[in-house]
Amino acid sequence: MVSNMNKKVCLITGAGSGIGRATARRFYNAGYELALLDLDRAKLSEALGSTATEHALCLSADVTSRKAVAAAFSEIDAKFGRLDVLVNSAGISGPVKLFYQLTEEESDRVMEVNFKGTVLCMMEALHRMNQQKSGAIVNLASIYGLVGAAGSSVYCASKHAVVGLTRAVAIENAKRGIRVNAICPGGVDTPLLRTIMEAQPGYEAKISGAHPMGRLSSPEEIANGIFWMASEEASFMTGQTLALDGGYTAG
Ligand code: NAD
Repeated sequence: MVSNMNKKVCLITGAGSGIGRATARRFYNAGYELALLDLDRAKLSEALGSTATEHALCLSADVTSRKAVAAAFSEIDAKFGRLDVLVNSAGISGPVKLFYQLTEEESDRVMEVNFKGTVLCMMEALHRMNQQKSGAIVNLASIYGLVGAAGSSVYCASKHAVVGLTRAVAIENAKRGIRVNAICPGGVDTPLLRTIMEAQPGYEAKISGAHPMGRLSSPEEIANGIFWMASEEASFMTGQTLALDGGYTAG
């Protein structure tokens, strides 16, 4: 059954953790209908707390699988009959090591999740948004989509690819009522970064100190930026990157 047609519908990938989870809460508190997608379904049930999650459509899918992504969007069609906002937050860091030490498989997986996953979800979303002649897409890039960093070469490449894709698709859709933007966080205190920090003594102080504000951001600070970029308040913004990085890229 198609639910309340008056409410806007937002799909968030990677909603089970970190930035995606905080973003799900931000949109839920603003009254959106939610579709939450993650590789790990168990994480989704914790995302919003039990009451709110009951009202959301929880989708278990690997964003690198065209078939799984298509099936997830079919479920969104069946439940909501529309899609107003897509936030692509599913992502992985991959191993932190020098480029020549990476294996082909490690490199491929980072590109597949961070870039191909974004491609597949955008393709499905744009079919729907083009029919509606409205919509907003926010892609999770990174400061590493704007600058390079030793030890994160393929991650940087995947995020630069997301930025390029965002710009080109934004231009293609600019007259169709669809806006496409990318957010570029600096270090955010989430399980993704915590795993890296815990594996390397001293890394947390080093990465925090690399930000002029001297700290990491919270996932909620990034979710606020994502929410704004997707909202009507940002109605003349498309094809842009917004760095929420405590000044990291200002120097
Ligand atoms: P996180 O690990 O806390 O959450 C990512 C979520 O994506 C997890 O729930 C995971 O299960 C899901 N996921 C991973 N692979 C998937 C797949 N193939 N299909 C579906 N879901 C999948 O990470 P986070 O820190 O919240 O990162 C979210 C996004 O923000 C990522 O794209 C990341 O690259 C980007 N980002 C993070 C930081 C940071 O410092 N944490 C900085 C800049 C950009």
